[in-house]
Amino acid sequence: MEKRFYLDANAGVPLLPEVRAALVDALGTAANASSVHGEGRRAREIVETAREKVAGAVGARPQNVVFTSGATEAIAYALSPRILMGEAERQARRLYVGATEHPAVLAGGRFSRDAITILPVTRSGVIDPAALEEALSAHDPADGPPYVALMLANNESGVIHPVAEAAALVKRHGGILLCDAVQALGRIEVDVGALGADFVAFSAHKIGGPQGVGALVLAHADVRPEPLIPGGGQELRRRSGTENVAALAGFGVAAERVSHHLRTADNIRRLRDALEAGIADIAPDAFIAGADAPRLPNTTLFAAGGIAAEVAVIAFDLEGIAVSAGSACSSGKVQASHVLTAMGVGPEVASGGIRVSLPAGADEADIEAFLAAWRGICARMRQSRAA
Ligand code: PLP
Repeated sequence: MEKRFYLDANAGVPLLPEVRAALVDALGTAANASSVHGEGRRAREIVETAREKVAGAVGARPQNVVFTSGATEAIAYALSPRILMGEAERQARRLYVGATEHPAVLAGGRFSRDAITILPVTRSGVIDPAALEEALSAHDPADGPPYVALMLANNESGVIHPVAEAAALVKRHGGILLCDAVQALGRIEVDVGALGADFVAFSAHKIGGPQGVGALVLAHADVRPEPLIPGGGQELRRRSGTENVAALAGFGVAAERVSHHLRTADNIRRLRDALEAGIADIAPDAFIAGADAPRLPNTTLFAAGGIAAEVAVIAFDLEGIAVSAGSACSSGKVQASHVLTAMGVGPEVASGGIRVSLPAGADEADIEAFLAAWRGICARMRQSRAA
């Protein structure tokens, strides 16, 4: 079998071996975690252990971790106009979202389309605090508290947003903040308290856990969105449905490995920087998104030579290299990246965005293989244009 190089960690980190072992083990024991018998109590113990591990990885209290079927659901749950606060509640009628948010956030949850205001980013892809301040100052108090959604790290460009600074602004205006920290976990330090957001969303498969499981972490137990999925009252009545015990066991073990992955960050950054130097060496016109902004250590989003992203991704795949065209979450369709478009680039660059996202175990051989393939792709492109 040909050797493959998997450089698409932001689409999903393959299941860690210890996660797979925990998953398989839990599949053997999992009863319904709500059952009162011994088997049920054992399943409950697995779920609560996972909750402690996830909470531990992000500096949260276990009882504030609400398990969901993934970050998309966690975000849809969070984006509720009705926010419950102890016995009281508040009704938010306007949602402010960063222009480069993931489609799960841009969809707006239970806010209607016309209740959503898009906040611009700078040319470096970072949310503009002045634009946020302006929007919050213009917010009509009749619309209730302003609700803001801002990701910690962008899935395409890796650009890191100043969430704690934004949180201070949002709080000064009496607002509510959701932070999508899906791509940050395992790549940079994430501490729910330090972020200052009310709700923080995570996904297991971005940290080597199973797909289809995630969490919404509440900063304070008594400030919570109206449940999205009512029913049997699981997850302290915040998210109904029988818990996916085995997947949660896997999520817990993956969360435990986060600190290990963080220790690889300097090495990954060094490899990423070598990769970018190589890309620009081969194609001097290469545009590297957010190069001058704080970014995740593992992510490069680049475009060069007018090469369409889908052509490049297929060419890389034929050379044994797995990378993505902009966002991989759009079910095989490759369009101009909304992230690059929001950064003010032209359509050629916006539809040429190739994302390389290094897994924690990447090494020099990955970079060499990628650059050899890139050299070949560029040479063939030049030849076909000259013909
Ligand atoms: N938010 C970001 C930034 C993502 O990258 C993704 C997935 O790619 C999601 C949300 C959605 O997560 P999930 O696949 O768990 O629904």
